[in-house]
Amino acid sequence: PTGFDLIRDPALNKGTAFTAEEREALGLRGLLPPRIHSIDEQVERVLWNLRKKPTDLERYIFLTSLQDRNKTLFYRVLLDNIEDLMPIVYTPTVGLACLQYGNIFRRPRGIYLTLEDRGRVAEILGNWHRKDIRIIVVTDGERILGLGDLGADGMGIPVGKLALYTACGGIQPSLTLPVTIDVGTNNEVLLKDPLYIGCRHPRVRGEEYDDLIEEFVLAVQQMFPGAMIQFEDFANRNAFRLLQQYRDQVCCFNDDIQGTASVTVAGLFSALRITGGDLKDQKVLFLGAGEAGIGTGDLLVSAMVDAGLSQEDARRRCWFVDSKGLIVKSRTDLTGHKLTYAHDHEYCADFLAAVESLRPTAIIGVSGQAKRFDRQVVEAMARINERPIVFSLSNPTSKTECTAEEAYTWTEGRAIFASGSPFDDVVINGKKFKPGQGNNVYIFPGVGMGVMASWATSVTDEMFLVAARTLAAEVSETDLRVGRVYPPLPRIREVSQAIAMAIAELAYSKGLASRQRPEDLEDYITSLVYEPEYQPYV
Ligand code: NAP
Ligand code: MN
Repeated sequence: PTGFDLIRDPALNKGTAFTAEEREALGLRGLLPPRIHSIDEQVERVLWNLRKKPTDLERYIFLTSLQDRNKTLFYRVLLDNIEDLMPIVYTPTVGLACLQYGNIFRRPRGIYLTLEDRGRVAEILGNWHRKDIRIIVVTDGERILGLGDLGADGMGIPVGKLALYTACGGIQPSLTLPVTIDVGTNNEVLLKDPLYIGCRHPRVRGEEYDDLIEEFVLAVQQMFPGAMIQFEDFANRNAFRLLQQYRDQVCCFNDDIQGTASVTVAGLFSALRITGGDLKDQKVLFLGAGEAGIGTGDLLVSAMVDAGLSQEDARRRCWFVDSKGLIVKSRTDLTGHKLTYAHDHEYCADFLAAVESLRPTAIIGVSGQAKRFDRQVVEAMARINERPIVFSLSNPTSKTECTAEEAYTWTEGRAIFASGSPFDDVVINGKKFKPGQGNNVYIFPGVGMGVMASWATSVTDEMFLVAARTLAAEVSETDLRVGRVYPPLPRIREVSQAIAMAIAELAYSKGLASRQRPEDLEDYITSLVYEPEYQPYV
């Protein structure tokens, strides 16, 4: 490439940081302003610009353009300011961005597949400029965060998740690929929007849909052997089905079901260190019996069985309220996974009644319904428990079941709280709380790195339980004292590294790894970690 090309290639560009030697040798003389800046000075410039932006959406757009210009600098800024910037590239701002993805569209990122591509999916994956892809995040845009069907505008989610694979897990950005499978949308607003970027027809379901997914999964095996597929933000009706179909066939997992389960169970492990309770004695009531709820229930049952309960007893400690009320045996409208948790109990129409009648030790909100943990619910939890566990995990912030401030205020600071999207610190009676973010970002980057390092051929539920235990072990007494059941975000690279080690070890010990175990696994994984630093070109 010529110098002119170099400053336009985001993977290679250094902007004003090209050295004098490089400018001379690569034909860059005159193409850049004379002053040479260090990456630290460039970071300052980026932060200055970010501070000047009036809204978070503007910050998102600015960071996206930086990613388009200079990848190294983008990741340097993100990694060094992860606590401030994660809410921009990820929940909640990524939700705002997806709601206007067509309007703010500048440069494409990743691969878009449509029904017109049937029979040609492998060829289209071949259009990608890299062949060594190891991590793919794919969505069909039907259940974007708690925002519903956003069609092709859902692409913001795979893009954001993969930025975090790199920032938090240290995966080389060039090894990642975001994919959107656009089978239409049932979102009337988008269908009418002239700036919408996706296919303007209602969602196609049934055989045509299944065939396209199947072709995609097989094409990945052909074009990117060894790549892990993360299914993300598929609607419930497809999420469980596709996971069931492909989990033993290829290296894949569903983040909303399994990743969320892992981070939530880890949060419960940590919460019990505060309450002093035993896992076997917990009674957990979920608001929402979908991917996140049922996924967490299933993993929690595994953890309780490990702790000595029978499967039946463990299941009886998990209760669910869905859109029709408490899930109990007498209901006739239940199918699939919900039947597992339909216990013998009187039916309750609403969540408060269920809390009063079951007296749970923990409530977990995964319904995508804002404000459902209202004052009455939270006060009831505080009456029933000395230290009530209240996890409000729905995203983005506009969908949270309750805020951190509400949870602490309504329990006089006794709640053990976590939320899917971040909240600021809360001070109650002079005591400061720093609530943890119960988000699968604590899990997927480490799992991905562990799978990648060991070339695991499948991703198992056991991996997510091991990830949960590893994450919980990273929570310090200092964290717990401020009410945080997860490690602070600036530690996320270390935490992901610990998870990666544990996952890779598990893959080797269970015969899932398709490469020999390196002599020093820790050194090997460290050697894979991407550091956003400029490489010398001359
Ligand atoms: P899902 O599979 O569609 O499940 C949603 C569940 O909520 C369903 O069981 C639904 O009931 C129930 N529900 C809907 N309206 C309700 C109401 N008014 N009262 C009680 N229950 C109601 O969605 P999901 O994948 O589980 O995601 C749900 C939420 O969790 C989303 O907001 C998402 O952002 C969040 N989430 C958070 C994380 C994290 O890391 N923090 C990860 C994944 C998901 P029916 O079964 O009767 O329809
Ligand atoms: Mn998700």
